[in-house]
Amino acid sequence: MECDKCGREAVMHAAYSGLHLCERHFCGSVDKRVRRRIREDGLLSPEATPDDPETWVIGLSGGKDSVVLTHILAETFGRDPRVELVALSIHEGIEGYRDASLDASEELTAELDIDHEIVTYAEEFDLRMDDVAASDPEGMAPCAYCGVFRRDVLERYAEALDADKLLTGHNLDDEAQTALMNFFSGDLKQMAKHFDASLGPFPDRAESDRFVPRAKPLRDVPEKEVALYAHLNDLPAHITECPHASEAYRGEIQRLLLDVEESHPGTRHSILAGYEELAELAAIRYRDDDGEEFGECDRCGAPTARDLCRKCYLVEAVHEA
Ligand code: SF4
Repeated sequence: MECDKCGREAVMHAAYSGLHLCERHFCGSVDKRVRRRIREDGLLSPEATPDDPETWVIGLSGGKDSVVLTHILAETFGRDPRVELVALSIHEGIEGYRDASLDASEELTAELDIDHEIVTYAEEFDLRMDDVAASDPEGMAPCAYCGVFRRDVLERYAEALDADKLLTGHNLDDEAQTALMNFFSGDLKQMAKHFDASLGPFPDRAESDRFVPRAKPLRDVPEKEVALYAHLNDLPAHITECPHASEAYRGEIQRLLLDVEESHPGTRHSILAGYEELAELAAIRYRDDDGEEFGECDRCGAPTARDLCRKCYLVEAVHEA
């Protein structure tokens, strides 16, 4: 097949757009989608200047999504004095898995010449995910613990690094799956939180001084295209799956979405577009009557509606097991 733009050999066909693209035009189209998303989300504040730049912290796991995001951000803003990029990686304590992906992350940040911070669950919480998965004091999937610990580390370190934005590498498939899971649970409040936390343009989101605002500039790019982009650019992405990966429900939704996408190309894009509008309406609806009173965690001071925040509760449960 030939590239629809220049006639060279095509490396991919996107059924949702009908386009065949060569390597150059495919990579250019991914760059363009990410930059357009950054523009449309108003990610770079008009108040950022070379004397008072914004700090963007990138959650870098070493997997293809965060590696591609870091690469495109460094290409786009590496020489822009209004933005300082810092990569933040987390070592969860998973034997034979995280060491390799951290090597990939270090190689990438050294190549791109951006600052790189590494945080470990061992130092932060005195635990390792391998031990948590083995003891499982709350009878939950490992990812349920890991997600709480990761969110805590990302938020605290983004704050400590004086971040203006926290960027993560969620792709179109991730976000369409989350949208469907929230639809299926019928939980409008969850949709509202999702919008305010990480979707849509910045001026339209609720202002919160509790958390550094998040952004997902890769959310217009399908997962397979992210993988192809990493491969074509020879990026040091780590592709092994975590041995504790266990989100069974998300796996079901993923298979469902891929089936529907195959017979109805463009479904993921339309789900996400409709979801963002609905989530924004839900955010407006619930902003005034949230009713949730936030105090401080007795142990770490994090905002919580209970005596102990979820992270401190789980850390205690793991240590007592
Ligand atoms: Fe943690 Fe689950 Fe991700 Fe493994 S797959 S790193 S346990 S969240």
